[in-house]
Amino acid sequence: NADAAMYRAKEQGRDNFQFYTQELTNSAFERILLETSLRRALDEEDLVLYYQPQISLANGRIIGAEALIRWNHPDMGLIAPNRFIPLAEESGLIVPIGNWVLRTACEQARYWLDIGLPLEKIAVNISGIQVLRGDISKAIKRALNYSRLDPCNLELEITESTLMHEGGQAIASLESLRTLGVELAIDDFGTGYSSLSYLKRLPIDKLKIDRSFINDAATDPNDEAIIRAIIAMGHSLQLKIVAEGVETQQQSEFLQSLGCDVVQGYYYGRPMPAAEFARLFSPVSDDGPGRQ
Ligand code: C2E
Ligand code: MG
Ligand code: MG
Ligand code: MG
Repeated sequence: NADAAMYRAKEQGRDNFQFYTQELTNSAFERILLETSLRRALDEEDLVLYYQPQISLANGRIIGAEALIRWNHPDMGLIAPNRFIPLAEESGLIVPIGNWVLRTACEQARYWLDIGLPLEKIAVNISGIQVLRGDISKAIKRALNYSRLDPCNLELEITESTLMHEGGQAIASLESLRTLGVELAIDDFGTGYSSLSYLKRLPIDKLKIDRSFINDAATDPNDEAIIRAIIAMGHSLQLKIVAEGVETQQQSEFLQSLGCDVVQGYYYGRPMPAAEFARLFSPVSDDGPGRQ
């Protein structure tokens, strides 16, 4: 029952999971129901990608977007990824779901390029399970071939904690992905425990500073110091730095003063449906020069 589930969740000490457990999986039976409906959501195209703009601090222009999945549930409305990605990972459904995300994001990016939007990057989140259990290289090749998207336009985001779990094997996996010509970014950077020597060996292009550091950067000297250190270290390893969760102009200016390359956050735009992103992005109209 609900109390028992909540108690278990509490014992596990995971706040997010607690709500999720209570709300969606009170019993093994309901869990199976949820898994079944998630599978059906995939078949019936009830999954949808939202896109959040990424902005270059060098010129203030949108360079691309991160694709973020939502489940458009017929009764419950839009469900956030934190509430179903863990179940998808446990059940293995993340492999077909992840393949769908790759294909959809690549096709969307190809479409935007075809209609003349100056998109440089589409960023896609990859779960560690996809790397370990799915044939991720093959899925990426297929998505690129099918969409005719140039690999240099695709960026894969992998969380720091995933990489730590995989240890040395992660390096080999990432190297094989990199030979495809795609870019690799470490997501939620700063929340894991990568050592500098490990980081040095990773074949990556970007670090995304976790938004927990950005939140209080302007007021908390510790967070400010951490951000400074990540940017300096990243740049000396020839990595580009992205800051996520930028919510205010003050944060944006602060990051710019530290030499951060790319920003993303509510200040610039929330994750939004594809059509809305295209309107925001559209740099030229038929009858004149660009409006920014
Ligand atoms: P993430 O990749 O670190 O994505 C950033 C999250 O922060 C997104 O939450 C985004 O909506 C949110 N965010 C962006 N800007 C701001 C801001 O200024 N303030 C605040 N408070 N939040 C901001 P979302 O969309 O709920 O996604 C949560 C996580 O779910 C993602 O974290 C990612 O780890 C995972 N996820 C999303 N889509 C996929 C997917 O297609 N595949 C996989 N495997 N994981 C996904
Ligand atoms: Mg991400
Ligand atoms: Mg992140
Ligand atoms: Mg995150």
